[in-house]
Amino acid sequence: MLTINSERLLADLAELAEIGRTEDGGVSRLALSPEDVAGRQWFQERVNAAGLEFRQDGAGNQSAILPAADPQALTLIIGSHLDTVRNGGRFDGALGVLSALEVVRTLKEVGQTLPVHLEAISFTDEEGAVVGLFGSQAVAGQLTPAHFTNPRGGVETLRDGMARLNLTVDSILAARRDPATLAGFVEIHIEQGTRLEEANLDIGVVTGIVGIRSAWLKFQGQAAHAGTMPMLKRADALWGAAEFIQQAKTIVIDQFSPGVMNCGQIALAPGSFNIVPAEVTLALEFRHGTEEQLDAMAATLYPLAETVAQANGLTVTITETSGCVAAPSAEAVVQAIETAADKLGLSHTRLMSFAGHDTQSMAAITPGAMIFVPSVNGISHSPKEFTADQDVINGANVLLQTVLILAQ
Ligand SMILES: [Zn+2]
Repeated sequence: MLTINSERLLADLAELAEIGRTEDGGVSRLALSPEDVAGRQWFQERVNAAGLEFRQDGAGNQSAILPAADPQALTLIIGSHLDTVRNGGRFDGALGVLSALEVVRTLKEVGQTLPVHLEAISFTDEEGAVVGLFGSQAVAGQLTPAHFTNPRGGVETLRDGMARLNLTVDSILAARRDPATLAGFVEIHIEQGTRLEEANLDIGVVTGIVGIRSAWLKFQGQAAHAGTMPMLKRADALWGAAEFIQQAKTIVIDQFSPGVMNCGQIALAPGSFNIVPAEVTLALEFRHGTEEQLDAMAATLYPLAETVAQANGLTVTITETSGCVAAPSAEAVVQAIETAADKLGLSHTRLMSFAGHDTQSMAAITPGAMIFVPSVNGISHSPKEFTADQDVINGANVLLQTVLILAQ
């Protein structure tokens, strides 16, 4: 069976980790920063050294291409991102790009062409130093004017970064790919969780990336003297908010597992030792695998907020804010990954991704899925992020076999 060159892949991972290396062994290659530009330069050199065709699109996405004999063939894309968070790890993103490069390089080396064009891609700004899923959303045609006028990294960061890479709004929008030309998308990534490690499994086959809903919940009661107002006469907004959090937690665990909820921010007014809280604003977020499950969570959690508010003599207003649509994987790609793992004698399980990835953009325009490999202690976005060599090698070999299955 054809396998990847593991020494070459591990050497690439080590070499790339030197670009933007931090004092404690982490990596800072924020998208569109000078370190990112150095990483891009290094990647281009690796692609050229392998004798592969190099391509950079208008959104700065970089690709290594192994063309099919027929120019009209569809394109199968594999890859991830080379940017990192501030003082992040060596594997998040880099593993997916370098494994993809290694797969293309291996096929080129043995002179094997496929019935599809094979493209190993490195997407611009997955982590969101500037926009988030910037390159993959450009490819999927999902960018809107708001991404340019109100980017999460600020307008100046975006403008300076675009200038550094010679990108324009027009060039970025032109990076959109016609879905009719695509055969699929596969991304390898570290799990960033402990499910594989705890079950002692080699490979996670991702059935989908969760959607995210978020809302501001504003509980309103009545400010009062914290000493003189009798307990039973209080309309304490925090009592309602606290009760909501406790009940929502139990309901989500009992009825919506593996869905999750979080209250990550709370503002309280007037905000004093000696005043009963009159107003509490709570940031509620919940995640699940399909839009139907998210609808069901919304249809339970929002009425719960109303019931709890009423029981505490409060009112509540619920304002939904920006979220993210769930991105189920394509069953055919999921099965191809499972078959590939079986061929290699690797244990595997299906699981959902609770973090965002470039695959969620790509899955909207072409059949896609992800391969997860174990992360030690589930740690990521940290210099302590670690995946064992054998898991890196296993993942890349599963990707190679998956490509061979999907290409047919
Ligand atoms: Zn990532």
